[in-house]
Amino acid sequence: MFNESYINFSNTLNLWCNKCKSFKGKSSVLNTYVLSKILYFVQCQTIPSHYINMIQKSCFKFIWGSVYEPIARKTLFLDFTLGGLRVPNVQQRINAFYLSHLFKLLNDYKSPWVYFTRYWIGMQLRKFNPSLHSNSEPHSEFVPSFYVECLRVFRKFIKDVQTENFKQWSVKEIYTFLINPNNEYIPKCNKEFPLIDFKNTFRNIFSMAVDPVCRNTCFRLAHSVVYVNKYLYDKKFNHAKKKCTFCNCDETAQHLFIDCLFTSPLNKTVLYLIDILTIENININPKWFQFFDVKNVGSIELKYVYLIFLSESRHIIWTCRNSVKHEKILLSPLDLIIKFINRIKYRITLDFHRLTQDFFYLYWGGLCHTTNENIVFHRELDYQNYLTYL
Ligand SMILES: [Zn+2]
Repeated sequence: MFNESYINFSNTLNLWCNKCKSFKGKSSVLNTYVLSKILYFVQCQTIPSHYINMIQKSCFKFIWGSVYEPIARKTLFLDFTLGGLRVPNVQQRINAFYLSHLFKLLNDYKSPWVYFTRYWIGMQLRKFNPSLHSNSEPHSEFVPSFYVECLRVFRKFIKDVQTENFKQWSVKEIYTFLINPNNEYIPKCNKEFPLIDFKNTFRNIFSMAVDPVCRNTCFRLAHSVVYVNKYLYDKKFNHAKKKCTFCNCDETAQHLFIDCLFTSPLNKTVLYLIDILTIENININPKWFQFFDVKNVGSIELKYVYLIFLSESRHIIWTCRNSVKHEKILLSPLDLIIKFINRIKYRITLDFHRLTQDFFYLYWGGLCHTTNENIVFHRELDYQNYLTYL
């Protein structure tokens, strides 16, 4: 019976497969268009467990574009600010529906279906609400499979939960509790780099400043799962070599994005642009250039501009490295700087059309001005300034 809904789910997922590239977009598609094809089913039926496994597997295949999953599933279930992508945990979403169904009953919800539920499981739940059971109304000794499942989930939940007022929880609150009970789970990146404030990192990565095109690279970089040569070599991928695409060192994320001689002129350009907007002395450090842990920079506007510089430059480094490695395109460090400056100019032009004049000047007033509806870029955005870095 569930097979039809599953086919509907698969068709919808296939429809979206090539339309969406960013992680955040894919997560929204899963939560809104795709999962709704099956979740209505659990309001009154149970789904066989092998179907749940297949659905969960398809969700992750959709997110990564392959069967290999570099980040733990438990992490991806979490909220954006905690390092996850809000990928639906199908089993727990279903359990949350079951629980909310029983909570309505325990809270004396007024609806015709309540009389049926009292008949089926009023006796089993009388411990939590004595009014559910009465000798003057019929109660069944047989419990249907749907309510057997509901009661099983409910008993397990009662064991785990440590608060009294859980009966007032919404489905969302129940689900949040189920995927990470009492906030015990901490993503791996937090343990590997304890000095980085990852809450701030992920808030920055998912902020409006970061272009969705660049966000995937930033997200992977924060989790240290960019497919650099050393990463593939350590994971024993076929024919993987650990040497850098541009030089003779091992290609780790820190080497490629910060230390490599080929990419350092671009990093110096970013640093120069940051320096002319701020009075503080900042150097090229992993905290900013790898983990986006930008905070306390004076104003929200400055943070917005810095995040654009950092995310765009990381994106340029990664795409250029891939072009050199896979398409054998010849590039020089100057090409990276030119591409970066062009993307910044493009972003400024977009913001010029998008924002009000006051906001535009708050963000970009240090790098350009406008005359007769045209943008005049200052000399800092001329790539010839940066020839000395090469
Ligand atoms: Zn290198």
